[in-house]
Amino acid sequence: MPKINNRPEFFDVVVVGAGLGGIYAVHKFLQEGLKAVALEKADQIGGVWNYNRYPGARVDVDSTDYSYSFSPELYREWRWSERYATQSELLRYLNHVVDRFDLRRHIRLSTPLAAAQWHPEEQRYHLETGDGASLTTRFLVMATGNLSAPRDPAIPGLADFKGQVLRTSRWPREPQDLAGKRIGLIGTGSSGVQATTALAQVAGHLTVFQRTPHYAVPARNGPVDEERYQFYASDTNNMREVFKNSKLFGVDGSGSALGTPQPAASYSPEEQEARLARQWDVGGQRFHVVFADQTSNKEANDVVAEFVRRRIRRLVKDPERAEMLCPRYPIGTRRLIQADGYYECFNRDNVSLVDITRSPIERVTDTGIQTADGHYELDVIVLALGFKAFTGEINQIAIRNADGKSPTDDWSRGPRTLFGLMTAGFPNFFTLTGAGSPSVLANLFTENEYHADWVADCINYLDANGYGSIEPEVAAQDAWTDRVAAVAQRLLRLQGNDYMVHRNEDGTRNFIPWSGGVDTYAEALEKSTANGYEGFTLNPAASLDAHSNEKIVALSVGGASHVGS
Ligand SMILES: Cc1cc2nc3c(=O)[nH]c(=O)nc-3n(C[C@H](O)[C@H](O)[C@H](O)COP(=O)(O)OP(=O)(O)OC[C@H]3O[C@@H](n4cnc5c(N)ncnc54)[C@H](O)[C@@H]3O)c2cc1C
Repeated sequence: MPKINNRPEFFDVVVVGAGLGGIYAVHKFLQEGLKAVALEKADQIGGVWNYNRYPGARVDVDSTDYSYSFSPELYREWRWSERYATQSELLRYLNHVVDRFDLRRHIRLSTPLAAAQWHPEEQRYHLETGDGASLTTRFLVMATGNLSAPRDPAIPGLADFKGQVLRTSRWPREPQDLAGKRIGLIGTGSSGVQATTALAQVAGHLTVFQRTPHYAVPARNGPVDEERYQFYASDTNNMREVFKNSKLFGVDGSGSALGTPQPAASYSPEEQEARLARQWDVGGQRFHVVFADQTSNKEANDVVAEFVRRRIRRLVKDPERAEMLCPRYPIGTRRLIQADGYYECFNRDNVSLVDITRSPIERVTDTGIQTADGHYELDVIVLALGFKAFTGEINQIAIRNADGKSPTDDWSRGPRTLFGLMTAGFPNFFTLTGAGSPSVLANLFTENEYHADWVADCINYLDANGYGSIEPEVAAQDAWTDRVAAVAQRLLRLQGNDYMVHRNEDGTRNFIPWSGGVDTYAEALEKSTANGYEGFTLNPAASLDAHSNEKIVALSVGGASHVGS
């Protein structure tokens, strides 16, 4: 680590990341009168919606819901042009928010946090950024996202390819001329499916290399749901209420065309079919909740999965191709993809499908992809390979506590957190939408707001009551980790090959997010808070004047690198 002699800048709160979570967090802390800054390693704000600029990228939940709720004025003045906003519209929205609330000067772009060292005697973290600048902060808030760090492609020969390689997760900013090109696409998760629907329209030929077929149900993009918009615009607290009452996947039966769902067995086969057909026609995330027990009861799940397979066979004209596209795992145990026109792409003459479980990719050559069965000549290879979920970004930063440990050192059997917000041994270190919270199963806008508000309230409580630091008690963290595991036992998804499942060496599995619904999560968190942060240890403030920079300078300057010292 380089020696730092410059005078460290002092902050109450440093937020890491300026995606939708970090943008709100820095705004909230500033509103509370705290000295706050956000560090963003990219040269633009927006996080996911800055990086993932691939053709076809758009949100897969209604934009009426995928919006900030903290400002009624903001909600009312921004009108989404479609039910599911595109990546570019989402990025425009986030830039609008940054400007509207004058946040740009509080966000440092191209500034990765490289290292953070907790100093117990000062109750501060000493931070070092990628360009060697040093900061100190009382509170460190990670808004680094759960799906941010891309998985590295491990495909032999990729470097030999003479054509163009594009990654959906780091799509170039400049327009790409793909018209008429021979494109090979690897990866058929959400990004790969969305990209397929767009690339099929422009490619000379698109070859999709598929390992696992996934369920893609219709999104039914179109005009914004005006009734839902008015419901939130009339009072944005309605959004927060919907969030706090939501179940698994951030949706429930309310507001659904189908009413509150009952277990599948309580409907006749004709009623089951009618419910599924109705939801198929309406489109959207509520395909998760056609039946109350479809995520936990295999028979109920089979009814839904078989319905989708029948639709695929109806949509794809070539029966052999249709069978290749039919997923075999229980529906909803991996992300349920929302996409319009995906299966129809495979009726096009310019689209082919290669099953790489039958004909594995052997290597990339200088002119294309060699599989066990043949060679595909390509101009462009598009990689849609997913992310190092949950810990990908945090593990790239040298975060150390007083014992020299990093937050994930004890996570060999899955994440250990209290409410997904904090980790024992790491005082004043917070993770927004972290593992052990509803995380990626909830509305990420509202959840980031909820968590940032909780952190702000917590800081205010500490300051008002003479405390300098907070961290989880180990016993409370163990108990919460056990609850996270217990509540997931009923999930079919726990047995699947999903990024939300942590697989232990002994073959057991842990589900990473809290899957008991936001309602039960909020109840548990708010009970702890109301009981004076039950389950957390609160330590008296050190005698150092928390708002003075001078003593830190005295401690830090003098040749020693203060991060990690
Ligand atoms: C392709 C894609 C599509 C998605 N679509 C949907 C969807 O349709 N609906 C939905 O609900 N969710 C979706 N998600 C989930 C998505 O992650 C969230 O909805 C949301 O964007 C998360 O916002 P965030 O601010 O928490 O994290 P991010 O947007 O991931 O932002 C994290 C930021 O932290 C920065 N960062 C990381 N490490 C450092 C560091 N060391 N120093 C400084 N900065 C750092 C990153 O550069 C990034 O800008 C999608 C995710 C992906 C990847």
